[in-house]
Amino acid sequence: MILYEDVKKELLDICLQMIKNNLVIGSSGNISVRVEDHVVITPSSVHYTEMSSEDMVVLDLNGKVLEGARNPSVEHPMHLELYNTRDDTKAVVHTHSLYASAMAVLNEPLPPIIDETVPKLGSHIRVSKYAMPGTKQLGANVRDAIEERSAALIANHGAVCIAKTLKEALFLAILLERTCKIYMLAKQVGTPRLLPDDVVEDEQEIWEMMRGY
Ligand SMILES: [Zn+2]
Repeated sequence: MILYEDVKKELLDICLQMIKNNLVIGSSGNISVRVEDHVVITPSSVHYTEMSSEDMVVLDLNGKVLEGARNPSVEHPMHLELYNTRDDTKAVVHTHSLYASAMAVLNEPLPPIIDETVPKLGSHIRVSKYAMPGTKQLGANVRDAIEERSAALIANHGAVCIAKTLKEALFLAILLERTCKIYMLAKQVGTPRLLPDDVVEDEQEIWEMMRGY
């Protein structure tokens, strides 16, 4: 019996959409989805364009491989940390998108600048403290950075978004990248003006109400 066939096909579809939206290249980045007490995750070091749904790996919440011939993504400790500490997380999309990565290199948080973004991602998207890729420490640092948010920038590395579904997590990754791009473009011309404080507060409240969807 093959576990979670449809889920694996959806994972592959989202991977191809990450490529199409320029969020990753080659085999970089990784995604997963939680199904009850299991996690279905992309394999390590397989190019998305050569990946098949059978390459996906099924883990339990401690990281034990339950199914799959390949190694799970090297970043699986971060995925597990997020599932184990956030009830509102059913899907994780980790990208190396250009503008989000540039912000992460600058160690510059994304301030609340766009009305469309804050209710979806939360305000002031933080940059996690630096840790080596694939380490438990990176997972812990990202967990801290993403608290009360749906996204975090990962220092000198990339970005991560969490959501209730894979489709939503992909959409959030596109929205994060787009907002980072707007911020960087605006900074090249002048000083970005942030949303008013009371609006940010209201929009963060909307985030809290909507986090369950
Ligand atoms: Zn990465």
